[in-house]
Amino acid sequence: MKKGLFLSGEEKAAANYYSVFNPHTEGLIGEAADGTPSEMSEAIEKADEAYKKMKTLTSNEKAGILSRAATILRDRKEEAARIISQEACKPVTAARTEVQRTVQTLQFSGEETKRMNGEYLQLDAAEGGEGRDAYTLHESIGVVGAITPFNFPLNLVTHKVGPAIAAGNTIVVKPAEQTPFSSLLLAEILSEAGLHPGAIAIVPGDGKTLGEVMLKDERIKKISFTGSPEVGKLLKAEAGLKKMTLELGSNSPMYVDQSCRGEVSEVAEKSVKGAFAYNGQVCLSTQRIYVHEEIFDDFIQECSEKTARLQFGDPLEESTEVSSLINKKSQQRLYEWIKEAKAEGAEVLAGGEKVGNGLEPTILSNVSSTSSISCKEAFGPVVIINKVKSSEEALEQMNNSRFGLNAGVFTNDLKQAVDMAHRIEAGQVLINDVPTLRFDHMPYGGVKDSGYGREGVKYAIEEMTELKMISIKYR
Ligand code: NAD
Repeated sequence: MKKGLFLSGEEKAAANYYSVFNPHTEGLIGEAADGTPSEMSEAIEKADEAYKKMKTLTSNEKAGILSRAATILRDRKEEAARIISQEACKPVTAARTEVQRTVQTLQFSGEETKRMNGEYLQLDAAEGGEGRDAYTLHESIGVVGAITPFNFPLNLVTHKVGPAIAAGNTIVVKPAEQTPFSSLLLAEILSEAGLHPGAIAIVPGDGKTLGEVMLKDERIKKISFTGSPEVGKLLKAEAGLKKMTLELGSNSPMYVDQSCRGEVSEVAEKSVKGAFAYNGQVCLSTQRIYVHEEIFDDFIQECSEKTARLQFGDPLEESTEVSSLINKKSQQRLYEWIKEAKAEGAEVLAGGEKVGNGLEPTILSNVSSTSSISCKEAFGPVVIINKVKSSEEALEQMNNSRFGLNAGVFTNDLKQAVDMAHRIEAGQVLINDVPTLRFDHMPYGGVKDSGYGREGVKYAIEEMTELKMISIKYR
């Protein structure tokens, strides 16, 4: 496979190309355009031109494009899943789930474009404001610049592209270096669905080089970034007056209360899935579990047994549940963090060793809160399960983090559930669910170092539009 840039509604040959390898087999997947600054500028120019057309589309027309794209993607589900599986090294069963979610993200975008309502304002609530009718509307802003990560190369790109189109904007995407092919497929599908040429451009290549062009170009009105906090902070420092959404990392925590005594096996099952889905390379992966001492022994036994049964293998194999990490650097980093935790007294309850280009699904217990594997983002198949004496101690540990994305609480105590939900420092709190949970229409984003702004189709549209107020004096 050799893929160029996606510009003006079609694939275009690029000046340079780079090779993309399968992280598990190390075999060549294909060649992708290695975008240059001038190719990025051309994409922005075309998107700016296309905006003249996009901003005139009716909601009905935009909904039609997005809904047709959802149907085409559903028909090409298997092809999309195999692309994701190979470039992101994602077990193919999980890749199919990502495609199915992307179909929904497109559908939600089509539905939300019809609900971009404003409100009626009572200006006569202010002294001297009488005799006016006033209302608000959401206006499109122009070209959105999207910079995306490797881990959900189709759905997280669609979380920016769908709302941008719904809002009447155009969008230029810089996908992660490891995963250019999924976003190219999305652009092809949207074009087939009738999107105006130029309204979407895909420019793969180096993040720093192409990101700088996006940041400097006045025609880009908003940067929507999903990725690591380190890069997010760099972008925010350079973004000037551009709008900005930052969806960053986390080390998501969870508490299991003793009131769940009767459901230990079920909660353990969900926890293992939450910790090891897509090798733990999920921004809201369950990383820190705090369990009440009364049920701790049962819980770790259940988790250890279920973890030991997980099948490691080639991402394209139907039976594979865990595969190689995205690169050897991640594998080595995590391996070092496990060694550090062990040296500090942590106990290994499952895994702990390298396997292929990945790591065995690993459970650590009795981990110090200052250990790297606890206070940094693991972004791999390692979970900590620590014993606590009370929900208060759990709460303190959960909030002892620079991050705040998703958090989970398993409890049958209603007052405790509500109290903890209010006091946990996170963008989303899931009661009786693991933190590794996202539905594509819910508001989603972080506090602290986990980010800035919200996605989830309706909320992303709000952040990709400007609120305009119109007042009409009639008396
Ligand atoms: P990354 O930050 O390394 O890369 C993300 C994107 O930024 C890539 O396209 C990359 O090319 C680009 N980039 C890198 N340096 C840049 C620079 N100096 N200027 C502009 N762009 C630059 O992240 P990753 O390894 O691809 O993804 C993993 C991270 O993403 C984790 O921290 C994870 O938690 C986070 N993530 C967050 C969410 C969320 O919704 N909160 C979702 C998925 C992933």
